[in-house]
Amino acid sequence: MIVVLKPGLSDEDVHKVVERIESLGLKAHISVGKERTIVGAIGDERLLADQTLESFPGVEKVLPILKPYKLVSREFQKEDTVIAVNRHEIGGKRVHVMAGPCSVESREQVQETALSVKEAGATFLRGGAFKPRTSPYAFQGLGEEGLNYLAHAREVTGLAVITEVLDPRDLELVYRYTDILQIGARNMQNFKLLTEVGKLDKPVMLKRGMSATIQEFLLSAEYIAAAGNRKIILCERGIRTYETETRNTVDLSAVPLLKQLTHLPVFVDPSHGTGRWDLVTPMALAGIAAGADGLLIEVHPHPELALSDGPQSLKPKKFAALMAQLKKVAVAIGREL
Ligand code: PEP
Ligand code: MN
Repeated sequence: MIVVLKPGLSDEDVHKVVERIESLGLKAHISVGKERTIVGAIGDERLLADQTLESFPGVEKVLPILKPYKLVSREFQKEDTVIAVNRHEIGGKRVHVMAGPCSVESREQVQETALSVKEAGATFLRGGAFKPRTSPYAFQGLGEEGLNYLAHAREVTGLAVITEVLDPRDLELVYRYTDILQIGARNMQNFKLLTEVGKLDKPVMLKRGMSATIQEFLLSAEYIAAAGNRKIILCERGIRTYETETRNTVDLSAVPLLKQLTHLPVFVDPSHGTGRWDLVTPMALAGIAAGADGLLIEVHPHPELALSDGPQSLKPKKFAALMAQLKKVAVAIGREL
């Protein structure tokens, strides 16, 4: 980092700043200018966290050089992370679509959806057995019974499964049933949960918190990586803005920006991103055109009867039409579907 000193400091005051920098384990490099003296503090400033020099006497400003996250940064790893799950590679040339109902509701509902999304070209089945609902009176998910229905659909279709884990206490159970662990938007900063999934060997999809900045998003991913698990997929699922016509605002610029800042695969969830089934297809196409490595899409055979998120769920026929269009977009930008 660069430490800008206040004007008119005595040599003794400058020395005190240097001493402080060195006491933090950094090397100090003084540069005396006509108007200002600056000190380059050399070393890994991320380790200092909140031990800021800003309030130290004689210091006017501190300019960090490094990003606060490390393992997930593009600086740390130049090549894209490619995650192998079952027979698939996430983050490679092929775009992956993970589709299925918001909530697992019954064996038949999951199986019917799984068969139709597989037929349309999806490679993963999504579905929540533990649901993070705003109201405590809303359907909370079927728990282990729901996980069993997912396992059954997995067996029938060969689709890999992604499902959400809400609570570290359910982690062992969910781990046994799923191929990818989903951390939902509301849990993006549940640091205990992030650390726990960080100790596991299965991939984690981390969804962006609805009011999280890109930096906060990447710092949450860093928690998982720092605990040992580097198989992380990021998912832009819309952020909350002043707009009321849509449930959230899909931040599509986050996609190319994340691809610059991190080596991790990036997905888009146009279902939660918009909250409206009629906007899902255009935002799905745009997400892939913007460089996303895949999509998370809600599909329900009877959205009007869904126990959660019916208004943003596509019927299987509409989903199949989306996939046909998506293929053209993927090919146009040099990818596969
Ligand atoms: C979901 O994918 O089912 C979900 C609850 O999404 P989010 O965490 O993005 O709201
Ligand atoms: Mn949902």
